[in-house]
Order: sequence, then structure tokens, then C-alpha cells
Amino acid sequence: MRDVTTQPARPEVVREDLDFDVLFVGAGPANLTALWRLLDLIEAHNARPGVKKLEGLTIGLIEKADEIGDHAFSGAVLDPKALEELCPAYRDLGFPSEGQVASEQVWLLTSERSGFRFPVLPPFLHNKGMPIVSLSRMVRWMAGQLEAREVPGVDVMLLPGFAGIQVLWEDGRVVGVQTADKGVNPDGTPRSNFEPGNNLRAKVTVFGEGPRGHLARELEAVLGLQASAPHPQAYEMGVKEIWEIPEGRVPEGFVFHSTGWPLASGEAGGSFIYRMSGNRLVVGYVVSLDTADPFIDAHRALQQFKTHPQVAPMLEGGKLVQYGGKALAIGGWHGMPRLAFAGGMLVGDSAQMVNAARLKGIHLGMKGGLCAAETLLEALAAEDFSEASLQRYSEAFLASWAGQELKRARNFHHTLAHGLTPLAGLKLGISLLAGGWVPGEPGHAREDAACTETTERFHGKAGLKPGDVNPGLKFDGQRLITKLDDVYLAGVMHDEHQPSHLKIVKGDEVCVACYATKGAPCTVFCPAQVYEMHPDDQGKVARVEIAFSNCVHCKTCDIKCPEGNVVWTPPEGGGGPKYTLC
Ligand code: SF4
Repeated sequence: MRDVTTQPARPEVVREDLDFDVLFVGAGPANLTALWRLLDLIEAHNARPGVKKLEGLTIGLIEKADEIGDHAFSGAVLDPKALEELCPAYRDLGFPSEGQVASEQVWLLTSERSGFRFPVLPPFLHNKGMPIVSLSRMVRWMAGQLEAREVPGVDVMLLPGFAGIQVLWEDGRVVGVQTADKGVNPDGTPRSNFEPGNNLRAKVTVFGEGPRGHLARELEAVLGLQASAPHPQAYEMGVKEIWEIPEGRVPEGFVFHSTGWPLASGEAGGSFIYRMSGNRLVVGYVVSLDTADPFIDAHRALQQFKTHPQVAPMLEGGKLVQYGGKALAIGGWHGMPRLAFAGGMLVGDSAQMVNAARLKGIHLGMKGGLCAAETLLEALAAEDFSEASLQRYSEAFLASWAGQELKRARNFHHTLAHGLTPLAGLKLGISLLAGGWVPGEPGHAREDAACTETTERFHGKAGLKPGDVNPGLKFDGQRLITKLDDVYLAGVMHDEHQPSHLKIVKGDEVCVACYATKGAPCTVFCPAQVYEMHPDDQGKVARVEIAFSNCVHCKTCDIKCPEGNVVWTPPEGGGGPKYTLC
């Protein structure tokens, strides 16, 4: 049987080969930083007297979104440490800051009406003075700076609208990626506008696809990059809405975090609220995907959260303007794969570079990009792209302040796997005093998908369906928004005449069996309501219906399908959400 997660070889098609010295896959902050710093380093190298100049180089960057920034999505309060290392004058270059954190609150919500504010913030949540950013806007700014850049001897190609669909291999080493074909019918046959994907060949390929990268999945299958990590990769799932609120409703620089309600006891996650420029407010919720609850739903948690008396007044009279969702790679130090291999590197969320305690990863991914660039320069100068050569990137990152920050936070996610229990609180206290150490570390962790229980084990009754335990919310279209109304504001576009990019790899019957025992969690956790179970003529649930055109590329189904039956693959380049404020 053909592997449905890769595209057909199509021997009748001639694929154009394009050659690069360095190819970056994904235009997130880690890869854009790596490219930016690499250009700086090449320029400095070539200015040095007596060295062999690096000339005639071709460096490419592909991005699956139609425009760089369209798929970038994060909170975010930015720790500017890596940005300052990359570009100390960033403020003078029109960096799109949404304001600076001026006041912070952390709450434990104990019920739908009550809660208390922590009198003292834990040190890892101190953000005062840091810039509040929209990652989408920040990434666009970085791409703009790179487009304006000219480095003699280097040809830089930024190529949005191109999705890497499979890794190119030669003798066990990575030699580039193949991009996705365009103009393909749902049955896989070419249409009249068919355009074959290209073979982008590179001496070294840097994979920065974000959380749960499709190509990173292939790298893992072939190279076993996770084998040396004590834990599997781990994820949270986050959704957020951006509201325009009446002037003066929330002070500039205001930041709010909470945990507790509406999550059930034993579940981990929490909220975030950031005041942005232009009287906009980000309101979001993340849930940990290692939960046993088959009906975990970050979107529902967000809708409930907005009704709490601490939150509802902030949104009164406001207007929802944008929505999005994304998985967060939260595994950190214990879940980090091998970062370098012959012909390639992993950076950013693809490498689990997120500090779970601070709920921040942009600065760590950017530091990864800075370290990768140093190694890339050495590799280009020595013409050595072996694993031993590229491994210097991994050593530099792990020894850097970013690696050490991840090391100190290494047990946070695992410790809070069942929420903020008294034991978890005690362990967190110990870890703060002991540089991150907790008794029994690293402990045992299971893949997020394997943690999902049947409804009988988790909710005490077999055969439950989502509505049985989560009665419907009263959506009013004003403050409480349905998933479908929300996803309309993600600006999602996919050509509906292409094959679904969400592949059911083990068959519909596996979904039907999952529906019987686990209530089909994908129909609940998906933030865009892509999955629905459908009955046959006798009214018996017989198949899963996939509205792939709504997909916001959050990757949660690939991570959390308890049967491992869904594989997310890149759709034709250019498809997906269009975030401008996220
Ligand atoms: Fe996320 Fe999967 Fe739903 Fe797409 S289909 S929005 S990747 S859960």
C-alpha cells in the first residue's frame, strides 16, 4: 500500500532540481533569525583579510503559507534577549511592538464565579518591561528586513507558498526537500493546472516547521532523533481570540494569567490575556495534551473562561476580530530530539525549544537560530556538512543561556501533569531552589495520544458522547462564539479541489471503534470543527467526515488522535489560516 503521507513519485513527471547551499524550511522566528545571523556572519567573514571568501552562495527559505507571517501564531510576551543579540537596534528599525508589560496578575480561579489573585508572582512569571508582540507581525517585520538586505556574493531567495512534502535522502543523509505538487484532484490525478513540486537540493537543510513538523516526523522515523531523549515530545493546545475593546477598558501593558476553573480537577492548563496596541486584547487558553480526558477542548475552555467575573467586564462592548489555534511544543529539555544530523538541523518548536514554566519559546527558538548560524558558517567555510560538523550547533545551544534556561525548567510540565495539586506545588518549590531538580526526575512520561482514556475509565460510563458530559454552552455570537464562527475569523483558505491533507492512515473503522469507546476525541479537541462522525443509512455511525478546508494547521489531531490514525500533511502551498494579529 502506498504511504498516503507522501506524494506519489509520478515517474512521468520531470521535477526541476534547484540547488542551494543552505535551505531553511519554515519561516518562523528560529529560521528567520538563523538566516539573518548567517548573512551577518558571511559578511563579517568575507571582510576579514586573508580568509577564503564565501562567494556564489545560494540560500533559500521556503514557507507553506501564502505570505510569510500568515501562519505565525503565539501569545506573546517576548523575552527580547535573543532579539537584542540578533539586532541591538531593533527598536529603531520599526519593530512592531504592541506595548510593554506594565502590570501582571496571576489568578487561581476556583469556580465559575470565584478565585483569588496570587499575592506574589513566581520569578519565572516576571515579565515587566518586556514587549508584547503579535508573532505574525513580528515575523513579517523580520522577513521585510531580510528582503531589504543585500550581501555581496550571496543570493537569498524567500519563497512563501511552497510546502516541503518529503525529505530528500542520499546514502542516509539529508540532501534537501521535495515541495508539494499543485493542481491535483482529490483522487490524486493531475488537473490541467498541475505543477509538479521541485526537488530543492541543499548541502544543509534547517528544519523549523513549528510544532509537530511533517518533515520532522519523517526525520524521526528514519533517524530516530528522539531515541536519546528521556521523554517523548509533549504538547499543549492553545486557542486565542483577539478583541477590539472600548478605549480605557484595560490599561496598556496589562497581562493576566490564570489556572484552575474551567479545567476539571487533575487537568493542566490555563489562560492568558495581553493588552495589545490599538485597544486590542488577546484572550487565550491552553490545555495540556497529556490529559486522560477524551473530551478535552481548549476552545470550550476559552468560551467558559470569558464568562468569569474577572474576565467578562474586560470584553463588555468589545468586538471579536481574529481567532486562531496552535499546538505548543512543551517538552523542553527532557523531550528534546537530537538537534543535528548529516545534512540537517532542527530548530525552534520542531526541537521542543519552549520553556513550559514561562510559557515562552520565541526567544529560545531565536537563540537556537543564532547558534545554528554560527555552525552553518563554519560548515560552509570547511565544506563539511557531516553530523560531526553540525553537532557543534547542538553543543553550543545546550551550553547557552537558552539551553540552561530549558534545563532549569525541565521538570515543570511533567510536575504539573495533573494540575496544581499540593504535591505538584511542593515539587515546584523544590525545583525553584534546586536549579530545576525534583525528586525522581526525569520520571516516566507517555506520548500525549497514549494518555487518552476511554469514557468508561475517565468519566465512569461506557459509550458516552461529548454532549453527555459537556452540555452545550449558550453561544450568543457576542461573547460566546461557536467554533465555526470563530474559525471564520482565522481567514482560512484551502483549494477544496485538492486531496485532503488530513490523512486517515488506518481506516475509518478505527475511527468508528474510537467513537464507541472514547467518543471520537478529534470531534472535540479540533479548534476548527474539522472532524464529524457520520451515520450510514441505518443511522449507525459509519465514518468520519473531514472538512479539511477549515483546518487552521494547529496539528493537534496528528498529536492527540488516540489511535494514531490521523497524519497531518502540508496542503498545497499557500493554503491555511491568514493571521495578521496573532
Ligand atoms: Fe488542528 Fe487537525 Fe483540526 Fe486542523 S484538523 S485545525 S490540524 S486539529
